[in-house]
Amino acid sequence: MSVYNAYLSLSGTIDAEVATDERMALRTSYRIGGPAALHVTVHSYQALVRTIQVLDRERVSWVVLGRGSNILVSDQGYDGCVIKLGREFSRISLGDDATVTAGAGAMLAKLVNECQQAGLSGLEACVGIPGTVGGAVSMDAGTRHEWIGHKVRSVVTYVPGKGLRRRESHEVDWGYRATSIPGNEVILEATFGLEPGDPGQIAADMEERLVRRREHQPIGKPSCGSVFRNPMSGSVGSLIEACGLKGATCGAAQVSDVHANFVVNNGGATAVEVLTLIRKMHDEVLRQQGIDLVPEVKFLGF
Ligand SMILES: Cc1cc2nc3c(=O)[nH]c(=O)nc-3n(C[C@H](O)[C@H](O)[C@H](O)COP(=O)(O)OP(=O)(O)OC[C@H]3O[C@@H](n4cnc5c(N)ncnc54)[C@H](O)[C@@H]3O)c2cc1C
Repeated sequence: MSVYNAYLSLSGTIDAEVATDERMALRTSYRIGGPAALHVTVHSYQALVRTIQVLDRERVSWVVLGRGSNILVSDQGYDGCVIKLGREFSRISLGDDATVTAGAGAMLAKLVNECQQAGLSGLEACVGIPGTVGGAVSMDAGTRHEWIGHKVRSVVTYVPGKGLRRRESHEVDWGYRATSIPGNEVILEATFGLEPGDPGQIAADMEERLVRRREHQPIGKPSCGSVFRNPMSGSVGSLIEACGLKGATCGAAQVSDVHANFVVNNGGATAVEVLTLIRKMHDEVLRQQGIDLVPEVKFLGF
């Protein structure tokens, strides 16, 4: 593997911004994480294809990230390449028949707001979720009962070495914070099927949801949102709270005293500190309540 060779090959690529030793703490909502050996922002499909060709040739591992709002990066960083989707992947266009197509690099908040203004209802459950459309589709983001996948009509991905692949919604298994889209494919855009609605009513619904978020989530502190997926019944927050861990700390990391399924960074927390708390939450819930919690947060560089 040669990150250096990959860097040299990619440096002149049109439509790509290439950096070495990119501090991931600046690119994640946790504000935690050591450097990625390489960081490439690709602004066009050609640049994406070339970047992945070079990385595969040089045997450099890679991952596509959106806004890093669901990821914990190790303090040592990641010895591969983080790819970010730029300009060409940030478009949002309204179609006929209450559909909207969004590039995977577009911000989810922008999509939700544009739909509201256009009087298109269906994505209200996504209001307040940080990150990109690609991240949301990859995670099947949403609330406990409403997931973005419910509104997807089709998804276009790039399959390395093969090209574009379009899947209709029924060809994807949409699960709670999971999809069947293979992890080695890059989500490029998604088309959503929505319903016409009253913009004022949609805005009111969104506002109500935002108020609930502000009341129940530690919005002001860096975090990755929910650490674990909820089990079939009950909520992870109450399970962790029942174990006496609400407010527990490890260095500058803390099990939020607002919502026990959030671990917040009180300023200068390390990935090890966060991970120590995550392990403790998992192990105590297993020991005291017999439930084996599954992380929702993704890990990079561990
Ligand atoms: C305060 C806060 C509140 C949150 N509330 C919610 C909530 O209510 N509901 C919810 O579901 N989530 C919530 N989250 C988690 C997070 O915002 C979502 O999971 C979001 O959809 C992640 O988007 P992202 O662009 O930041 O993805 P990233 O964190 O960058 O990536 C997440 C995963 O998606 C993959 N990925 C990203 N882009 C692509 C792509 N183009 N192609 C293929 N794979 C890709 C990454 O490889 C990674 O595995 C919250 C997070 C925070 C910080």
